[in-house]
Amino acid sequence: MTQQAHVFDGVPGPLLEALRSLARTAQLTVALDFDGVLAPLVDRPNDARSDPRSLQAISDLVLLSGTTVALVSGRSLESLRAVSGSPDGVLLIGSHGAEYDLGEGRAGIALTAEEKRALTELERAITSVASRHPESRVESKPAGIALHTRGMDPDAASATQRDASHTVGASVLGVTQRAGKDVVEFSVVTATKGEAMQRLRLHTTATAMLYAGDDVTDEDAFAALEPGDVSVKVGAGATAALHRLHGTAEVAQMLRVLASDRRNHLLGA
Ligand SMILES: [Mg+2]
Repeated sequence: MTQQAHVFDGVPGPLLEALRSLARTAQLTVALDFDGVLAPLVDRPNDARSDPRSLQAISDLVLLSGTTVALVSGRSLESLRAVSGSPDGVLLIGSHGAEYDLGEGRAGIALTAEEKRALTELERAITSVASRHPESRVESKPAGIALHTRGMDPDAASATQRDASHTVGASVLGVTQRAGKDVVEFSVVTATKGEAMQRLRLHTTATAMLYAGDDVTDEDAFAALEPGDVSVKVGAGATAALHRLHGTAEVAQMLRVLASDRRNHLLGA
C-alpha cells in the first residue's frame, strides 16, 4: 500500500501530477520515440512492435480535439511506418528529424549532389567495416547508414564501433556521427530530434508538449522542451528529462493516464 500511494502502476506521483496539468493545456502535442519507448528493444530492428496497450492509448488520444500524437524516431520514415502500427492521424518524423510525414504528404529528403556522393562513399566504407565484423548489421537510411551491434559481445561491439568511426572518418567527408544504444550512425545531413521538436511545436501550434525517449539522441529533444512541457526518460542513463519511467509497460500506463485525463478535461469532468 505504501508503494501505491506514490506510484500508479509504475507511473510515479510527480509524473502523474505533471500529466494532469498537461492534460489541461489548450493544444497538446504528445511526441514519442519508438524503439525502447513504444516498442521493447529487440535484436533485429524489423522485429520491433509497439506495445498494444500504448497503441490503444494513442488511438484514444488522436481522436480527441486539440490533441496531436507524433512519433519521432531515428528510423527511416519507411521503417517507422512499417513497424510502428500507428493509427491514422499520428504524425511521423524519421531519420532524427530529416524526414517528416506531418499529414500533408511526405516530406522526403532531397540530397544535394555532394551529399549523394558522400552517401555513396559512406555505403562503401560501412560495407567494408561490416565485412570485418560479420555479426554487425547494416541499416541503410535515406540520408545515412546505421551499424547495429546489439547482441554482440561488448568488446566486439566496441571494436566494431571504433572501426566504423575510424574508417568513415578517414574516407568520407561531410558526415556526422552519432552513437546510440548498440548502434553507431552516420548521416550526410545534420538533423536532430531537438530541431524536430521545434518544427513539431510550430506545426501543431502546441501550447504544451510531452516527449518520451530512451536513448542518447533523445536528449536533443529534451533540451528543446520549454517550461510547462513534460520530459520523460525511459530506462537507465544520464538525462536532462525531469521524469523517468522503467520501460515500455510503464509508458503504456502513462499514455493511458494521459488519454483519460485529457478526455475528462475536454468533457469538463
Ligand atoms: Mg529509442
